[in-house]
Amino acid sequence: MIPLVDLKAQYLSIKEEVDTAMQHVIDDCSFIGGKNVTSFEGRFASYIGVNHCIGCANGTDAIEILLKAMDIGIGDEVIVPAVSWISTSEAVSSVGARPIFVDIDPSTYTIDCNLIEEKLSERTKAIIPVHLYGHPADMNKIMAIAKKNNLFVLEDCAQAHGAKIDGRKVGSFGDCASFSFYPGKNLGAYGDAGCMVTNNEALAAKSRMITNHGQIEKHHHLLEGRNSRLDAIHASVLNVKLDHIDTWNQARQKNASYYTDQLASSNIIVPTEKYKCEHVFHLYVIKHKKRDQLKEFLQTNGIGVAIHYPVALPFLGCYSHLSLLEEDFPVASKHQQEILSLPMYPELRQSQMKFVVEKIKEFDESSNSL
Ligand SMILES: *Cc1c(COP(=O)(O)O)cnc(C)c1O
Repeated sequence: MIPLVDLKAQYLSIKEEVDTAMQHVIDDCSFIGGKNVTSFEGRFASYIGVNHCIGCANGTDAIEILLKAMDIGIGDEVIVPAVSWISTSEAVSSVGARPIFVDIDPSTYTIDCNLIEEKLSERTKAIIPVHLYGHPADMNKIMAIAKKNNLFVLEDCAQAHGAKIDGRKVGSFGDCASFSFYPGKNLGAYGDAGCMVTNNEALAAKSRMITNHGQIEKHHHLLEGRNSRLDAIHASVLNVKLDHIDTWNQARQKNASYYTDQLASSNIIVPTEKYKCEHVFHLYVIKHKKRDQLKEFLQTNGIGVAIHYPVALPFLGCYSHLSLLEEDFPVASKHQQEILSLPMYPELRQSQMKFVVEKIKEFDESSNSL
């Protein structure tokens, strides 16, 4: 059995460090806030290359809190890609604004920058590019569009911790960015966790207030916020893992190269890297015309595969009232039918990948001769 992700393998590789760090939090009974949270926020901000990091409860909250902090709400529209995890559009709706979907680029699977401007209106306030699967969206183009049209940019970096464009990390291009530390992400806590990063001091201060009931100091509530904090126990785990993230991302890249070298064949489309990007392969997603049969064949052979995501955002049941049409999102429509995520994690061994590749080739050859 080769799983899609193996969190146990990663835990065993850092067990002593993590156990000690978590035990310290318990010994100190300092569960909310405290030195682990402060030190992680500072270290993560410098890792990304920004001035401020504010921990929060999860990556979905991070998007929602940043939208609120930018005063985006009822009557506003926000541009989002047609393919992402639902959090991206859900957070927009949660603050009372409307998500406006834009089709994806056929080679990077991130928002198609050539289609953004035709979707702008007087109500548009922001763009949320998503660095899907770990490949950066085209931030240089997006920032130019945003500047020209006076829009905020919030980067959804949930799948792209450490990904770069021309040496610069994602999360440092937009006005602000959200990260998720869901356990299976490239940098994952031991439960739900997330953060926001920005260079804008006012935005940082307001976001921090919102995470902590609108308090500027204890019992001094300047606005109504919510409870969305990064727990100390998660911060202690993240502090340990932050020392390993670059090594882990390199291992993912090495694994991705192996797959790509071995799989390049006419029926299998492998991921690409564009505009001097450094992809961090949160997911390794291939495309195949007979995806459903391939998926079943691999699962029968004990290979953990999955689809991210089976239904593109515009076609989800929760947006049926918008009556969005497949022909208006041709790339996303085709994408959802052909994608398949292969096992991908830093500890994945070459012998395991070799087996995955052999089985894919076996399927491909037999399906060709049908
Ligand atoms: C995981 C994810 C999120 C949300 O993160 P949570 O911590 O699970 O709330 C947001 N956007 C994308 C693209 C994600 O993959």
